[in-house]
Amino acid sequence: MTTIGGVLHDPETGRSRRSEGRLESGALVVQADGGERRASFDALEITTGGWQAQAVHLGWRDAEGRAWALSVEDPAARAALAAALPPALAAKVAASHAAERKVRRSGRLAIALVSAFFAFPLVLIALLFAFREPLLDWVVARLPPAVDAQIGQLTAEQVKASGKLIEKGPAVDAVQAIGARLLAHAPAHPHEFRFAVMEDPSLNAFAAPGGFVVVHTGLIAAADGPDEVAGVLGHEIAHVLRRHSLRQMAFELGLTAAIQLAVGSPDGAVAILAGAAQQLSGLSFSREQESEADRLGFDLLQAAKLPGEGLPRFFDRLAREGGNAIPAFLSSHPQSEERREALAAELRRRGQWPTEPLALDWEAVRASVRK
Ligand SMILES: [Zn+2]
Repeated sequence: MTTIGGVLHDPETGRSRRSEGRLESGALVVQADGGERRASFDALEITTGGWQAQAVHLGWRDAEGRAWALSVEDPAARAALAAALPPALAAKVAASHAAERKVRRSGRLAIALVSAFFAFPLVLIALLFAFREPLLDWVVARLPPAVDAQIGQLTAEQVKASGKLIEKGPAVDAVQAIGARLLAHAPAHPHEFRFAVMEDPSLNAFAAPGGFVVVHTGLIAAADGPDEVAGVLGHEIAHVLRRHSLRQMAFELGLTAAIQLAVGSPDGAVAILAGAAQQLSGLSFSREQESEADRLGFDLLQAAKLPGEGLPRFFDRLAREGGNAIPAFLSSHPQSEERREALAAELRRRGQWPTEPLALDWEAVRASVRK
């Protein structure tokens, strides 16, 4: 005798409960609340159920036409059923088993797909991280120069609104003359450079995308001659030409936003970047960007026949005289010692080049910005 454990759906009580059935002389006999109930094999309807087709339903109707069912989930009980039932019914049990395997297989596939769905952002993030440098290059390359110009314009408006912009005078003339000299032989570019002086005692200079270059009065006052300012300006112009600020803004926005930049409209890009542009003077460049700006800065100085010693000399003097007051222009370079050495080495490598001095009355320029 084979006993089969399962859940009995009892129409007499309207409840389902665990019950034992047994197969006995051509019939299924189950233990119901009202006593034993019998269903001949002829009356049995075998179907597959359960959310993963893991159950075999043995259903039948009693003399009153009420539907009974014993649901068997336990694999051992189902195997016992298949062994004990007549072949036609056993085949149905076996079929339900096959159905279950199929459902389980697709279930595993679904789970794999769902897992992949959740894992994909992680994979994507990992890929984005691994390829962030070429990705940022791609983002910046996709932005038209009009984006640089508009960000530069926003910065210019901010500087003007600060009330610290110096519109005219010897310092403005000097900075513009140095800038014009450097740009006269610069490689072709789509930017419209403007050079401005800002009332600020800190030794700093910065360049907005598109070519709005600002020199603080503190830097001019500290410079021993126009060559030192030329060195700083060459470096800042190089940042603009290489679009370093734009790249750093895109970097600081995060890669997802950066990709939005690349695939969106230029106006959308300006809107996204406008926020980042607020922190322009606090933007820090990578060491690679700084070395690149130094090298290109020297190229500009050389092409403009301006001496290259100004920038390293400015650094040296600041390091000697500045004490703890490290200028903002240097503070974004934690390896400024290393950088000074790299500058000197680059100059040695290039050797002397012919120079034509700038005709500027530097004492008058400094006096105009001294308080
Ligand atoms: Zn720099």
